[in-house]
Amino acid sequence: MKTIFEKNNNSGICLTDEIEDLSFLNSAFLRKEACNIPQVGELEVLRHYKELSDRNFCIEKGFYPLGSCTMKYNPKVNELLASLEGHTNLHPLMSDEDSQGALQLMYNLQEALKKITGMDAITLQPAAGAHGELTGMMIVKKYFEVKGDKRTKVIIPDSAHGTNPASAHMCGFEIVSVKSNAKGQVDIDALKEVLDKDVAAIMMTNPNTLGIFEENVLEISKLMHDNGSLLYYDGANYNAIMGYTNPKLMGFDVVHLNLHKTFATPHGGGGPGAGPVGVVEELREFLPAPVIDFDGEMYYRNYNIKHSIGSVKSFYGNFGVLVKAYAYILMMGTNLKNATEDAVLNANYLKEKLKKYYDLPYDEPCMHEFVLSGERQKHDYGISTLNIAKRLMDENTHPPTVYFPLIVHEAIMIEPTESETKARLDEFADVMIKIAKECERDTEKVLSAPHNTPVKRVDETLAARHPDLKYTEQ
Ligand SMILES: *Cc1c(COP(=O)(O)O)cnc(C)c1O
Repeated sequence: MKTIFEKNNNSGICLTDEIEDLSFLNSAFLRKEACNIPQVGELEVLRHYKELSDRNFCIEKGFYPLGSCTMKYNPKVNELLASLEGHTNLHPLMSDEDSQGALQLMYNLQEALKKITGMDAITLQPAAGAHGELTGMMIVKKYFEVKGDKRTKVIIPDSAHGTNPASAHMCGFEIVSVKSNAKGQVDIDALKEVLDKDVAAIMMTNPNTLGIFEENVLEISKLMHDNGSLLYYDGANYNAIMGYTNPKLMGFDVVHLNLHKTFATPHGGGGPGAGPVGVVEELREFLPAPVIDFDGEMYYRNYNIKHSIGSVKSFYGNFGVLVKAYAYILMMGTNLKNATEDAVLNANYLKEKLKKYYDLPYDEPCMHEFVLSGERQKHDYGISTLNIAKRLMDENTHPPTVYFPLIVHEAIMIEPTESETKARLDEFADVMIKIAKECERDTEKVLSAPHNTPVKRVDETLAARHPDLKYTEQ
């Protein structure tokens, strides 16, 4: 496909050619020579970008079971609400008096998220999940600083999302890994071995990245609290537990949510997102300022937070994302629980359908996702998980997350989400089974996939190490 520059055919309009007298413009700002932008007529521009967009994969096009990412359908009405003029034309520096509507919306969202997580206070500022983790760990750090308790380590299970150790490390903590047991859960004895008075916190995902619920979470939270340590809950995939339980009941002190996974903001193109953080009462005084408060008459930005870690984002967070999440929560009401039920049911249904054809290293009931292994295909036919993922692209299906979590060899991590029908799940299962059979009978077809995509095999290492993003005329 040609670039828009190569399609330049001088069919556009050059404004300066059309306007005879340019004297109304300050001559200091006029270009001396024409800038090199492609001149292409409107219809050709439309065709160009339509063709490009058709090459993209999106949820509106097909099944998108990218594990840990919750690529579900997000109702379009939320976009409409976020784009209302009253929202988009608000200036962040307007006074509290003049932005009561927006402040009320943020306040109500904080209240809703308090109910959903069980936490006592919320900040809406962080712009993503990992940003929420960073904020949470900064709060943990400050909490111990103010207490005069020097704690240097953070424990992270080996099944954790990669952002967890990265966030804790960025706050200056030393990472201590703790291994999983045969059931894919935190090994309590291994945890006890590394638990000492230097440990500030444990960062956990529950269900963990294997999609398995940590049965011993109450024992873990007791162990941590008895040691004077805190518990951080990675709530990025909240459609696994929403409405059934919450981190407070499990004994956690800090939690982040991904509004752009669970609460109806489409994502995958790099944002914007939102990763609100909830904390228990003892940590309220450490939240980023401002939080949105209500004095009985007025909603206002409260900067008066005693030990605030400061601001973590310009102004108050990604407001448009907050509008979408609030709209989604109001629309769903108590049906948020049904979203969880459907997400968990869909994942277990697919797991049971596929476990005959692919290895399932942890054969346990799962929550919102499950992790297969391509080990058998690799061993018997020399076909790696990457090949299977590429072959799926031929079938109008986005590949699942692969090679993550690290504790499963040749991992294939599948998250169907709550928004898919049984018919779609069956279709996907059929494709996965067909590919498993191809591995045996038509090995070459899988090894040389994808066959139908605009771009075939790319050198992923080269693309990551030496990205060449600039167009140069040939
Ligand atoms: C997606 C995800 C994150 C990171 O969220 P971002 O918004 O991409 O920063 C963290 N933890 C888990 C478990 C996730 O699935």
